[in-house]
Amino acid sequence: MSVSASEAEIKEVVSAIEARSLKALEMPGGERVAVGIPSSIPPEIREDLAQELGTLPGVDHVAHVSRPFKLASREFHRSDTIVEVKGVVFGGPEIQVMTGPCAVESYDQMREAARVAKEAGATVLRAGAFKPRTSPYSFQGLQEEGLKILKRAGGETGLITISEVMQPDLVELVGSYVDILQIGARNMQNFPLLIEAGRSGLPVLLKRGPSSTIDEFLLAAEYLLHHDNRKVLLCERGVHPLDRSYTRNTLDLNAVPVLKEVSHLPVIVDPSHGSGVSRYVPALALAAVAAGADGLMIEMHPNPKAALSDGAQSLTPDQLQELMSRLRRLAPVLNRSVSK
Ligand code: PEP
Ligand code: MN
Repeated sequence: MSVSASEAEIKEVVSAIEARSLKALEMPGGERVAVGIPSSIPPEIREDLAQELGTLPGVDHVAHVSRPFKLASREFHRSDTIVEVKGVVFGGPEIQVMTGPCAVESYDQMREAARVAKEAGATVLRAGAFKPRTSPYSFQGLQEEGLKILKRAGGETGLITISEVMQPDLVELVGSYVDILQIGARNMQNFPLLIEAGRSGLPVLLKRGPSSTIDEFLLAAEYLLHHDNRKVLLCERGVHPLDRSYTRNTLDLNAVPVLKEVSHLPVIVDPSHGSGVSRYVPALALAAVAAGADGLMIEMHPNPKAALSDGAQSLTPDQLQELMSRLRRLAPVLNRSVSK
């Protein structure tokens, strides 16, 4: 739709699509709304419909989307999508930092993590309660008790929260405690989970699978959008490395400008899982923002040495503070800002 399209003009486009027994989906953007048809259109009506829509008032242009992912594509939605979660805006000029420990371990740990996160200028408190551990003998997370602690710590400090959900039947439970659902790298193609998270309508941060192509990643995001969820954040968190002797994964920074070009969705980068080594995290975090990331997810633990998971990649509170102040100096060069 054109920038000045009215509500009534948008509705008219939706009605014209629905009159052909097709589904119409409105995607609000920063400055304009796009209306998509998230299904295949019978070839015999395709040209006809495009022509009809092109003549309606308020329509800027009609595009056929050539990418395999449709709703996630920038061909469909030219302006950046803005995802707003309780006043925290993703995809705009402000860079959002999500931080906290890998896992909720105790209320004291989370209270301290939340205090540090808030003081440093982060806007989202992260921590896992249902943990996707490689080994069944590793700490599996505090589960619902952990979600209660996360919610309390976030509420007390005025931070919104994010936590991972691993299975479709827990979407409702996790969603009742957190502001953003996290779908982890290992579950990027858990289709029943994507469908359920899509239907929930809750904001979702989708992490890229460690062996996934960009198309597979965006098709996974397409599941969320297709099930009527428009609050989707993409997260690059590293892919399988060529060489594990130095880093756990290889942060694919190429993915940032690529995703920003082919998709309109906000892009978050997680340099903690991306490298697995806390001393590399600040350099990668700054590089990610320079590459165009809209936000960062950074693991930070009040005492990384004692962490029950991912201590080696977790920043200390001081290291987070230092990184945030460097980020605050970098942001203006990129015409961006960091809250505080
Ligand atoms: C996490 O965020 O703690 C996590 C398990 O991430 P990933 O799914 O990217 O491995
Ligand atoms: Mn982790």
